[in-house]
Amino acid sequence: GQTIGILGGGQLGRMLAMAAARLGLKVHIFEPAANPPAGEVAHKTTTAPYEDETALTSFADSVDVVTYEFENVPAAALDLIEARVPIRPNRISLATSQDRLTEKTFLRDIGLETAPFATVITEAELAQALASVGMPSILKTRRLGYDGKGQARINDRHGAPAALAAMNAADAILEGFVAFDREISVIAARGLDDTIACFEPGENVHTDGILDTTTVPADISTATRERAFGIAGTILTALDYIGVIGVEMFVSGDKIIINEFAPRVHNSGHWTEAGAVIDQFEQHIRAVAGWPLVDPVRHSDVIMTNLIGDDIEQVHAIAAETGARLHLYGKAEARPGRKMGHVTRVLGPATDR
Ligand code: ATP
Ligand code: MG
Ligand code: MG
Repeated sequence: GQTIGILGGGQLGRMLAMAAARLGLKVHIFEPAANPPAGEVAHKTTTAPYEDETALTSFADSVDVVTYEFENVPAAALDLIEARVPIRPNRISLATSQDRLTEKTFLRDIGLETAPFATVITEAELAQALASVGMPSILKTRRLGYDGKGQARINDRHGAPAALAAMNAADAILEGFVAFDREISVIAARGLDDTIACFEPGENVHTDGILDTTTVPADISTATRERAFGIAGTILTALDYIGVIGVEMFVSGDKIIINEFAPRVHNSGHWTEAGAVIDQFEQHIRAVAGWPLVDPVRHSDVIMTNLIGDDIEQVHAIAAETGARLHLYGKAEARPGRKMGHVTRVLGPATDR
């Protein structure tokens, strides 16, 4: 059988490994940190830094395809792997999403709408950017930001220098603040045969910059839903993408503004394991392994809630609930802001909005 290599051993890698096992495939995890959550369920785990060429070489030589759940793999490591085995989704998809400036420029160039944006490095550039983007706005690090980290809201001119100083980053991007009605995401997949399959859009609520809940279906019109599918398809095709993608969007009236995309399975797609005939993890494994995709029909209305930090103390109560699908990541220590698990509550059979 095939062996799938996964860069990154966090909860996403763990859930991918579980899906691969169900298909009779083996998984080899490459992760610099010791005792990763995915290590407990993978066939094999290599613990080594991305700079360890010997470890990377034997990892690459032991697998048929490499995918990733961690996006900040150094380019040299990817070069080494790519010389031996295909990387899916491809390098362009990863590189485009790694830098908010490249990402937003790409989205605009393929005709999609983003928030107004401008690059910022110095205080003088920030003043210029504020003049073109307007206020309120959000200053974000171009790279390495997640869960709303590395972001500062700017409400007026006086707050601007402090926001830039707090950034502690050579490169930042200034984004206009979008007064959205709701946030949605489309989890979609593209297979080796060019098939595209989209899960129902979910409606996302963030608390302190971290995803709190995803409700499916989202409270959007049929036209918006169709347009959201079209946007996901446009991005997948433009990138010649293979695998699952998570596209985050702001809905404002009948407009869709694209926030960002993640070239991997996505937290806002965790509901799929309880609400659809296939989950995002199996769909991703199928895509990267060259299997046919499944039409991801949704059978239930659901709400997924992340269990973050000491939310984990509610586990015994949740475990006793009817219709609540609990998924824990096996992390020993509950730190504030750390994703420990999630629960998807089935609300009833699938309804249309
Ligand atoms: P993730 O963990 O999803 O990768 P991130 O750190 O990359 O998060 P963003 O998705 O850019 O951060 O922003 C986090 C949240 O902050 C968004 O989901 C949204 O709620 C809010 N936000 C970000 N940018 C804007 C904007 N331009 N206008 C309004 N709200 C925004
Ligand atoms: Mg992000
Ligand atoms: Mg985001």
